[in-house]
Amino acid sequence: MLDVRENLARVRERMAAAAARAGRRPDEVLLVGVSKTVEVERLRAAVAAGLAALGENRVQEAGPKIAALGRGVAWHLVGHLQTNKVRDALELFDLIHSLDRLELVDPLERRAAARGRPVETLLQVNLAGEASKGGVAPDDVGAALEAIAKHDHVRVRGLMAIPPAVTRPEEARPWFRALRGLAERHGLRELSMGMSGDFEIAIEEGATMVRVGTAIFGARPPRAEAP
Ligand SMILES: *Cc1c(COP(=O)(O)O)cnc(C)c1O
Repeated sequence: MLDVRENLARVRERMAAAAARAGRRPDEVLLVGVSKTVEVERLRAAVAAGLAALGENRVQEAGPKIAALGRGVAWHLVGHLQTNKVRDALELFDLIHSLDRLELVDPLERRAAARGRPVETLLQVNLAGEASKGGVAPDDVGAALEAIAKHDHVRVRGLMAIPPAVTRPEEARPWFRALRGLAERHGLRELSMGMSGDFEIAIEEGATMVRVGTAIFGARPPRAEAP
């Protein structure tokens, strides 16, 4: 577990340096440790070392982990949410980064209203129109926000994106900049962008949350399903 502590310290240093380069304070950026496929003991080590938020991409996998680790850490959903998992997701997660289609809004509203507590979300944007990824098109963000705003129990705090894969982190910069522009245009505060390969660029471009898995927990075993 020593590696997790050391990796975490190193990621934090790199985050602070990136924030400093952009004239930002390190505490303006939340580190979300993406813990899919990672075993509970390694998550426990990260939380003991001060990691404040964990991101899972599957409701089924998150349930037992949350039961084991408890709520001393925030739990975020970063992956595709199936409509039939909405009820469980609301019980488990503090923030849903992946509101990736409008069909989710009615089920979210219904379940959140039934619980008497609004659900906090980020609207996922498909910046490059990739068929393999979810999210609303950049041109549709305004209309989507208007539609969602008619729902009392669904709150959109910001935008999230997974830009197209690039060979050098620097190549992701225009995508991050585009997401930031969209958020500013629509008066949204939170920007969930940047992963292990490019979180420093994302922070330079205004990320308020970075989703970092491999750089903290090490390489994941391959999984048959897409992440
Ligand atoms: C897996 C995953 C990450 C983390 O990816 P790493 O490259 O391991 O840092 C971030 N965001 C989402 C949505 C993911 O599925």
